[in-house]
Amino acid sequence: ILEVTNLKKSFGPLEVLKQISFDVNKNEVVAVIGPSGSGKSTMLRSLVHLEEIDGGSIAVDGQFIVQEGVYSKPQQLKQITSKMGMVFQHFNLFPHLSVLDNLVLAPKLLKEGSTADLRKRGVELLAKVGLADKADVLPAKLSGGQKQRVAIARALMRNPDILLFDEPTSALDPELTGEVLRVMKDLAQEHMTMIVVTHEMEFARDVADTVLFMDNGEIIESGSPVDLLTNPKKERTKAFLQRTM
Ligand code: ATP
Ligand code: MG
Repeated sequence: ILEVTNLKKSFGPLEVLKQISFDVNKNEVVAVIGPSGSGKSTMLRSLVHLEEIDGGSIAVDGQFIVQEGVYSKPQQLKQITSKMGMVFQHFNLFPHLSVLDNLVLAPKLLKEGSTADLRKRGVELLAKVGLADKADVLPAKLSGGQKQRVAIARALMRNPDILLFDEPTSALDPELTGEVLRVMKDLAQEHMTMIVVTHEMEFARDVADTVLFMDNGEIIESGSPVDLLTNPKKERTKAFLQRTM
């Protein structure tokens, strides 16, 4: 469903992504692990065109976002990236809008349905993440775990084919990570295709089909959680896992 080929990205002289290639199959959950500064966020942001890449190709369902460094036309770009939802570490909710309005705003601006239909869908999705009673409150009234569940519901509003998560639990108090991971596990069980950048090795082991280990702008190793986490082949992977587990 997603094909990434020879992705390259630099910030000035700093090469952050060095010819990264990987595929994600439909219904697959891919966990991305790796040290701070290895390029994980930049890679995710590049996939949804929050960063412009310098070379390589990204295709969703065979449609190119960018092909050998050349981006598709804005109309097509919008249409393809609208199939991807993203959840950030810091939730990025609009503080002055109610929870439900946070969900409805973007699809409304993009004229993706009547306000009534979008609100109905929003209410359903809030129920799905266990927040049916919070539709009318402001984000400031919510805990971090609740905010992140709102962000997940918001990402689901447009019915994405792929959901991307960038360290969704890293900003949360430890006791709040469970409720967010629970929602993500439920999505995985419903066969949502997901790429999850995470430090949660337990989640990677239990939920991911594939784990990618990134270091210094490269994918060093990828494989099933069992292979990669318990039997890594590359020295750099071993060293990283020894530090974190
Ligand atoms: P972390 O685990 O800390 O989130 P990461 O793997 O997500 O790290 P990135 O955020 O992708 O790493 O950053 C990769 C490198 O690119 C880092 O050296 C970072 O300083 C640099 N970088 C990221 N964004 C920018 C930017 N907008 N301008 C310049 N350099 C950047
Ligand atoms: Mg990051």
